[in-house]
Amino acid sequence: MSSPQPDRPSRRALHRRLRRPIRGWVPVVATLGLTAALLPAAGPAAATLGDTLFPGQGNAGYEVRHYDVDLTYAPDTNHLDAVTHLRARAFTELASFHLDLEGLTVEAVTVDGTDATWTRQGHELVVTPATAVARGRFDVTVTYSGTPLEHTDPDGSTEGWVRSDTGDGATALGEPVGTMTWVPSDNTPGDKATWTFDITVPDGTEAAANGDLVSHDSDGASTTWTWVQDVPMATYLATVAIGQFDMAETTMTSIRGGEIPIWSFVDPTVGSTADAQALLPKVIRFEERRFGPYPGTSAGMIVDDVDVGYALETQDRPFYPYGLGTGALVHETAHQWYGDSVTLTDWHDIWLAEGFATYAQWLWDSAHGGASPAARFRALYAKPASSSLWHPAPVKFTDPADLFGAPSYQRGAMTLQALRARVGGEDFSRILRRWATEHRDGNVRTHQFEALAEQVSGRRHLDGLFDDWLRLDGKPRGY
Ligand SMILES: [Zn+2]
Repeated sequence: MSSPQPDRPSRRALHRRLRRPIRGWVPVVATLGLTAALLPAAGPAAATLGDTLFPGQGNAGYEVRHYDVDLTYAPDTNHLDAVTHLRARAFTELASFHLDLEGLTVEAVTVDGTDATWTRQGHELVVTPATAVARGRFDVTVTYSGTPLEHTDPDGSTEGWVRSDTGDGATALGEPVGTMTWVPSDNTPGDKATWTFDITVPDGTEAAANGDLVSHDSDGASTTWTWVQDVPMATYLATVAIGQFDMAETTMTSIRGGEIPIWSFVDPTVGSTADAQALLPKVIRFEERRFGPYPGTSAGMIVDDVDVGYALETQDRPFYPYGLGTGALVHETAHQWYGDSVTLTDWHDIWLAEGFATYAQWLWDSAHGGASPAARFRALYAKPASSSLWHPAPVKFTDPADLFGAPSYQRGAMTLQALRARVGGEDFSRILRRWATEHRDGNVRTHQFEALAEQVSGRRHLDGLFDDWLRLDGKPRGY
């Protein structure tokens, strides 16, 4: 995401959490040679994974492998009829489980093809199958409809299902939690899945989503747009954009010689984006040379008259509001590596996305006549100790309103420049590339980046540097 930075310091203590704590988990080895009496009976799965900043999001007991989202949308009335089919895997026997869904009316839920009962508890959709789900694969189908909600974030910004200013459609934006306004989901960045979207809209209306456009077929009255996302994707990066768009289908050549298809959707009322569309392949190749091969199967952009005040790195096809500039293009494209492909597990590691995307802007600017990253660092370091840049530390905040603050962006990028100054440019470049390639399509935490930096550089004592830049509440000294 790129946006104006809020200024809300938070100094509450951080509670480190284990990755995806699962209640009722029984290690396989513990079941060997034991009687069934020693095993727990099927029970309800916990409602939460315990994310540091959004403890109510995500669900324990299972993971989603694939989302098949089938939407029929009427732009004039903003009405949605939807069926989402999830292929999931239970970690243990489940008498019931939760999905995240805010708003809309649930009409039916089936589990493995059999009707299930459900209740709504806030944004939790609690599903009780007719018989407990056995450990292993299971399928869920949720049929639902209504007017999807916009969701207001702790920092006051708007996400979720956002209707366009001209009323020609809507764009779904999901960072950090908005995807639950249109997809019943395991709404945590730690659970990535592949996706299919079938979006049915009136003829003459376009529908964009993530992944590759497979078909758009009309029955004479309406058109179904089918998109397939075969690359694992976190829920917050899913998007659908519906409206009157100019669609551009092109291809570009990656630095390795392969072809990358590009599908871009631009609302003509936002003005010309010809320059940005011409620049996109150059930005991708620039970043490929620094970060490694482009991690997606396609690229593009969505530019819509949705006045949320920020751009968002929706996977493959970032969203831009009015006034798409080069900085946002470079930033959101860099997220395709850092954030979308290499995805944080817990929201308090957001600097792993925003610090890196900001640093990519510094690299671009420096290569195009602007200040060097070292000069950008020095200019920021000159800010007084009272600046919001230094509070709270990037991985030491617990107020979700601080998620998109200057510490995540600028201080995150400064962390990378401080590392570069310490280990040298060659090792720094290796670290950036190996981080992208070794964790491609995966989930990460900050300590893994620290370990990689120490491994690549052969320096065993970078913990002081990372503590100063990521954990010290205040201005680091001595740089
Ligand atoms: Zn960003």
